[in-house]
Amino acid sequence: MSRQEIPYKIYLKESEMPRQWYNVRADMKNKPAPLLNPATHKPMTEEELGAVFCDELVKQELDDTDRYIDIPDEIRDFYRMCRPSPLVRAYCLEKKLDTPAHIYYKFEGNNTSGSHKLNSAIAQAYYAKKQGLKGVTTETGAGQWGTALAMACSYFELDCQVYMVKVSYEQKPFRREVMRTYGAKVTPSPSDTTAVGRKILAAHPGTGGSLGCAISEAVETAASKQGYRYVLGSVLNQVLLHQSVIGLETKAALDQYGIVPDIIIGCAGGGSNLGGLISPFMGEKLRGEKDYRFIAVEPASCPSLTRGKFAYDFCDTGMVCPLAKMYTLGSGFIPSPNHAGGLRYHGMSSTLSQLYHDGYMEAVSVEQTAVFEAAEQFARVEGILPAPESSHAIKVAMDEAMKCKETGEEKNIVFGLTGTGYFDMVAYQKFHDGQMTDYIPTDEDLQKGFDGIPCFPGNEF
Ligand SMILES: *Cc1c(COP(=O)(O)O)cnc(C)c1O
Repeated sequence: MSRQEIPYKIYLKESEMPRQWYNVRADMKNKPAPLLNPATHKPMTEEELGAVFCDELVKQELDDTDRYIDIPDEIRDFYRMCRPSPLVRAYCLEKKLDTPAHIYYKFEGNNTSGSHKLNSAIAQAYYAKKQGLKGVTTETGAGQWGTALAMACSYFELDCQVYMVKVSYEQKPFRREVMRTYGAKVTPSPSDTTAVGRKILAAHPGTGGSLGCAISEAVETAASKQGYRYVLGSVLNQVLLHQSVIGLETKAALDQYGIVPDIIIGCAGGGSNLGGLISPFMGEKLRGEKDYRFIAVEPASCPSLTRGKFAYDFCDTGMVCPLAKMYTLGSGFIPSPNHAGGLRYHGMSSTLSQLYHDGYMEAVSVEQTAVFEAAEQFARVEGILPAPESSHAIKVAMDEAMKCKETGEEKNIVFGLTGTGYFDMVAYQKFHDGQMTDYIPTDEDLQKGFDGIPCFPGNEF
């Protein structure tokens, strides 16, 4: 099909929005390893998980066999406010790069929370409400997940308690106020409201906190409060399942124009947007129907896939959560404070980790100044001011497009543009003022994190 026949934006009709999520685990020969009880090292049972998570979400978490799971009408009704999201042909970027490649991006930033996280937040809030719970607790780092969850909880009239990493709480007061506008209670973490928070504060006075600490606090609060459960915005199987709506829409839009992607690229923090974007395509690859290249992009300062170990590890600093088998830098790993680009989690989704381990997916790491250069170039030609996280994918999409320029190949490159960067202007400012640096951890730095990975029979790495 000639250039002009493909519109700048491919919008699906509302009626074409997916009615079911796609569960990629159903098509995996090697299933992701189960979560383990940290005390017994036995797989977590439905009952044990039910003490922390909502019942329906536990079922989804443990479901390795159902290929499709119905999206309840109440969730589809909410999705209608910002979905289907557009698949954009990056004509202006292609022209600027003078590349024969065709570049497409799926834009998930068209909602107040500014990212794809709302896709799972609304699902998790719905199941909590349906179970008759009073509220949910969670952690947030940069604030996108907390904002998405606050919006979802206000929609279903649930109480929402957010533990926000203290440095972000102080540096991003506007994110905090958005959450409070939607009725969430926001506490800087570590705090003295939980036993684990008090313990961390005693050991590290003045600490700015980390996602791992905030998770421990949120889990403790959920477990100790009647009518509350804990919810998580990434990493878990259930979150990848909900995010498959991104990939299903992308595939439907491409199919309408007969476009077959060669390369699909996404940034990877805990792996939810990437897992969601690639799921239906990965399914075809796993079933031997089609072949695609999948590329996970992570920051060089927090390189879990490219430099981490594939092992069972703690999901949180306080070691109260189940153990997950994943590519990990160790639960004690904290990225350098000058790392501004998000994607700071020490581990990676078990599903994506298994797919990467089995050779179905590639991973690359990129340095943050190069990411912000790509972000700025993208903003200037495509108009959207991208989130730093999303810009990791932009950077690699541009690199792949430049390779096509050398070889003259007209490849179809698809990437996930997960969100907008309006709350990240301090990072952009550092970049503009030449104060941004590229800290890459040394092998010794990483070894300290690996030393914290638990040792037990069967967990050799
Ligand atoms: C949270 C976030 C990410 C990373 O999370 P994943 O679970 O890896 O998708 C990427 N982009 C944006 C805009 C985010 O808010």
